[in-house]
Amino acid sequence: MKIQEADAKSLLLAQSLPVPDWEVAHTADGARIAAERFFAGGAERVVIKAQVLVGGRGKAGGVKLAASPDEAAQVADAILGMDIKGMTVRKVLVGAAAEIVKEFYLSAVLDRAEGRILLMGSAEGGVEIEQVALVHPEAIIRRHADPLLGLLDYQARDLAFAMGLGGHLKAAVAIAKGLVTTMRAYDADLVEINPLAIVREAGPDGAPVERLVCLDAKVTLDDSALARHPGLEALRDPDDEAPEDREAREAGLTFIKLDGTIGCMVNGAGLAMTTMDLVKRAGGEPANFLDIGGGARADKVAAAMRIILDDRKVNAILVNIFGGITRGDEVARGLIEARAQQTRDVPMIVRIVGTNAAEAAVLLEQARFQTAASLDEAAAKAVEASRGTGAAA
Ligand code: GDP
Ligand code: MN
Repeated sequence: MKIQEADAKSLLLAQSLPVPDWEVAHTADGARIAAERFFAGGAERVVIKAQVLVGGRGKAGGVKLAASPDEAAQVADAILGMDIKGMTVRKVLVGAAAEIVKEFYLSAVLDRAEGRILLMGSAEGGVEIEQVALVHPEAIIRRHADPLLGLLDYQARDLAFAMGLGGHLKAAVAIAKGLVTTMRAYDADLVEINPLAIVREAGPDGAPVERLVCLDAKVTLDDSALARHPGLEALRDPDDEAPEDREAREAGLTFIKLDGTIGCMVNGAGLAMTTMDLVKRAGGEPANFLDIGGGARADKVAAAMRIILDDRKVNAILVNIFGGITRGDEVARGLIEARAQQTRDVPMIVRIVGTNAAEAAVLLEQARFQTAASLDEAAAKAVEASRGTGAAA
């Protein structure tokens, strides 16, 4: 799950990382009021930043400075409603504009191959790191954290020096270690600070001082671990999820959309993968992976059917149920109910074996569903129906 910059900054702040103060505004007037507060606090300019779940907002015109509350309102008005890479801007972050001395890149990412958290740092910050990786791969410094001990002080110091942050060693070490702490505290997949910036500020006596701050923040959370962090679900942005993904999540279904034409409804992840393989072997392309889970009741089956049919590319459906805890007759009832509500008619091949398969067969026959005894037969019939040569259900 991706979260907005402002929410990512809240998580960093909760882990004591240095993040400049900000407010979120949904309207131009809200941005003006927020800006007034920062100007009253001594800011010379404010920064207005589009809150959308994509990178490169700066380049797209979604990050702008303003020198007065009026200008802040104007800038916010221009940014709100803007389309950035297909995302509509609905809110902006407002903060005192930083005077940037130098921009760095620092991130912590889950390195699945190593089974460790990987820290990546670079003195080439502010720009897209993919570009740096392409042109100057040697400019990216990599260090793995220890799974038990985290990022050790010497590793963090080593990373900071290699990044050219020797002059801000203490802050850099705290931030690098803080990224790892943040990763672990929230089960994040990625915590990225770009730019991590040396900024110039007025010190306590008015003389300028330099400080290292997290100017931008991107955090993605592991969806599978959200159950361990009940508070984080509230950070989910509707734009982060396709409508079919949301419906699947709310119905408790595991659904992944694919490019093919044959909708698959299966119980169990292993059986779902096998079913997809068999569809391919029979010459077809699965339109999705869909696991209705164990013990699925009729309403869940109906929800699954709606999600499959919402994909206009689907022109045949293969239902493959191995009844264990899941009862075949429940699934059959769900299919009958779903078909009654269905807005378009698509051939459906049903194979139900296991618990209550006989009852399911009776129900399906009464409702004139097309059934198959074996999985190979079901896959072949589904592919045939998808090509429009088979008899429709
Ligand atoms: P992104 O383009 O989506 O990654 O958004 P960022 O928050 O990283 O902003 C893009 C760029 O805008 C940064 O690399 C900075 O150069 C600039 N920027 C962001 N915030 C400030 C700020 O407070 N002051 C100044 N002067 N520039 C900023
Ligand atoms: Mn950035």
